[in-house]
Amino acid sequence: MTETEQTSADIKKFPVNREEHAFPPWTVSYEQSHILHSKCPKEGGCDPNDETNLCAFCTYSKKVHLPQLPDMVFPKNILRIRNSNGCELNFNPLDALVLVKDGPMNIEIACAGAWKESRQDSGYLGRMIKPFDWTFTTEYKGTLLGNWKVEETCERIDVEKLKEKKSILFYHDLTLFEDELHDNGCAVCSVKIRVMPSEFFILLRFFLRIDNVLIRMNDTRIYHDFETNYLLREFTSKQGMVQDLKVPPYVLTDPNIVSTHLSSVTASYEKISFP
Ligand SMILES: [Zn+2]
Repeated sequence: MTETEQTSADIKKFPVNREEHAFPPWTVSYEQSHILHSKCPKEGGCDPNDETNLCAFCTYSKKVHLPQLPDMVFPKNILRIRNSNGCELNFNPLDALVLVKDGPMNIEIACAGAWKESRQDSGYLGRMIKPFDWTFTTEYKGTLLGNWKVEETCERIDVEKLKEKKSILFYHDLTLFEDELHDNGCAVCSVKIRVMPSEFFILLRFFLRIDNVLIRMNDTRIYHDFETNYLLREFTSKQGMVQDLKVPPYVLTDPNIVSTHLSSVTASYEKISFP
């Protein structure tokens, strides 16, 4: 990113937005605000030893061990689901980015080959061989605070039940971070929630598209039936090389459609109980 781009990105502020809704014993709230500054706003910088007073920029610099961050990080975009017993599930960009690997990945080499055949963009190739995961792939599944118990389960989210027509009491979606891979695709991490009279459903999605090369999706689905004392959390990682997908171009930009064409890489199924 050039200095000019950074400055214009800093100016692009979004209005601070906050909402809270009670669905006893649950409270669902979100905050939404501007993107991360590209430097510390304090004169002389924050005191690195005073963790509680670090600005967002210094917090990210300290905790995310990557040589660069995505173009757009929304540090204040946080979705929280709290139970009156003190258990909290939240979704925030910091914890998502902490899980991005700071080291070379096998897929980089595979991509670089395919990329070379399809593009003559030496600048981007230079970036691709950098020793960190420049795709910002994360296996973030949300942050659990409090006395939850997590275990594997054979129980699955009832997808058919979710398709039934029900009234939506609350709906919201938030982008946690986004990068345009120097105009060669996109990497987006976002979360959406919908609350219905007897249940809630959350989809946290990391979507990666490297133009002409690769599509990858890491989805975390969380479902709670208000009659039970647990959440179901399903994580799936899928991907496909664009040359193998053989789908029209518009499909590649629509995560919902392209997901049906991707191959499964990993999956995990958890039951998360609260007292
Ligand atoms: Zn600072």
